[in-house]
Amino acid sequence: MRCQQIVEFGKPLESRDYETPTPQGTEVLLKVSACGVCHSDLHLWEGYFDMGGGQKLDLADRGMKLPFTMGHEIVGEVIALGPEATGAQIGDKRIVFPWIGCGDCARCIDGDELLCLSPQTLGARYNGGYSDEVIAPHPKYLVPFDGIPAELACTYACSGLTAYSALKKLSHLKEEDTVVIIGAGGVGLSAVHFAPSVVKCKIVVADIDADKRETALKSGATAVIDNSDPDAIQKLMEMTGGGAAASIDFVGAPSSATFGLNILRKGGTLIVVGLFGSSIPLSLPTLPLMMRTITGSYVGSLSEMHELMALVQQGKVAPIPYDVRPLDTAHQSLMDLKDGKATGRIVLTPG
Ligand SMILES: [Zn+2]
Ligand SMILES: [Zn+2]
Repeated sequence: MRCQQIVEFGKPLESRDYETPTPQGTEVLLKVSACGVCHSDLHLWEGYFDMGGGQKLDLADRGMKLPFTMGHEIVGEVIALGPEATGAQIGDKRIVFPWIGCGDCARCIDGDELLCLSPQTLGARYNGGYSDEVIAPHPKYLVPFDGIPAELACTYACSGLTAYSALKKLSHLKEEDTVVIIGAGGVGLSAVHFAPSVVKCKIVVADIDADKRETALKSGATAVIDNSDPDAIQKLMEMTGGGAAASIDFVGAPSSATFGLNILRKGGTLIVVGLFGSSIPLSLPTLPLMMRTITGSYVGSLSEMHELMALVQQGKVAPIPYDVRPLDTAHQSLMDLKDGKATGRIVLTPG
């Protein structure tokens, strides 16, 4: 198998060849057809997350061993099965759900693998899809995508799922409520596309980029706002009649999260999704006085992945733009993403 690997954090990825692994137990070996390049891959490649206040979450300290193969938006074809891998067939083309837990702890047994303290995420803990072959630990993590191009289907495993799961946390909102989506990049725009299938409320999109606001309007947003406008908060208060019921911050930067908090009405919820990093000062009395909730949403569960793919297959989700490139451009593709030169999701194919 040929992989594009992190050999040293922050240094160019290197192409390395290994013996094709033999699947053990319940494992499944897939030939990779496509793998999306995600913003969080940039953090993994750098080797840390900026936790704010000068604190860094160092991935080497968290047990990430190099060389390592990133890639968690994986689609492939089953080419070998371990002796206990039932429920998959050779030739099956599947999305590989990457957000896998240990399988043994109370959270995993409850089906909340995302809450597992020993995650086994493909492309973050276990070698992922920047490769021509990948091991999935169990057939239950293989999700069908019939009728959808592989290069698009892979993006649902993170970008699409993240948008879906964040929005689903607001499915209780009413028609007259407003949710403000902050950041109309790939994930934020996916959320705008899904919104009518997941929530009943109005969708306002905030972005500092005029082109992205325009795209958001064309994608079905009720209204858009420039959050760099000094009057943006006031305008939103007027637009919503006293504040939004919720905001979803797909950026996760101090400015976007502060904005997301300041536009909430009483009882409103800020959901932070983006992993840009750093921290914000927080006025504690505003939490009880305004009865606000700040919460986080991280990717999504396996059952949400199935729900999402059902919506996709019913044609209820507009495809996001994607840019297919050969696997050996992995490093350049990562740098293009870092430099903001990616238009749509970059998807690597081993070719
Ligand atoms: Zn991702
Ligand atoms: Zn677990």
